Amino acid sequence: MPVRTCFACRASLDKHAMLRLVMDEAGVLWPDLRQRAPGRGTYLCMRKACLARMNDKRMRALSGKFPGVVADWSALCRRIADVLTRQVRDTARRLRAKAALGRDAVMQRMWNNTPLVVLLADDAGEALRRQVHDAVEKRRADAGRTILLRVPGDGWLAGVFDRGLLSVAALEASGQTAGMVENCVWLGRLKELGYI
Ligand SMILES: [Zn+2]
Repeated sequence: MPVRTCFACRASLDKHAMLRLVMDEAGVLWPDLRQRAPGRGTYLCMRKACLARMNDKRMRALSGKFPGVVADWSALCRRIADVLTRQVRDTARRLRAKAALGRDAVMQRMWNNTPLVVLLADDAGEALRRQVHDAVEKRRADAGRTILLRVPGDGWLAGVFDRGLLSVAALEASGQTAGMVENCVWLGRLKELGYI
């Protein structure tokens, strides 16, 4: 297991569970989700307790390793959120041939036992949200594996799947959705902490 140290909290973790950042010529840090971009990189663990303490000052600690680094935490958060959101969208698009789209299709898919990843828009109506949560709970009681993810609202899902209106979709869980789940968890943390 390749281990890296988080530049912010100094925890040593499996590098695949962390976010790699690389610096460009202007000193701006960029997220490198595939962890293959050339150039010197550093790692951020993305755990909630670590993120909660992040600020510009903590980023300045990087200037030893990266002279000239731009220590702007909120700008970095926006870049991270953009890249994560794009990655989630691309994965969902790749898997769309087998996706269940809309309330009826998703509810129907929840009746069979295939492990599912359910994408629920942040601005889904209260009735739909309750219906989805209840169905996921019921499925859990029946040992059906389900991961419920909140995704951006305001037409985001509709754009991903080329639909006019869409607040809920379901994908079969697979190796490909695993990365997407982690990306949504990270996005959720940034949002919960008010960074995006
Ligand atoms: Zn950390």
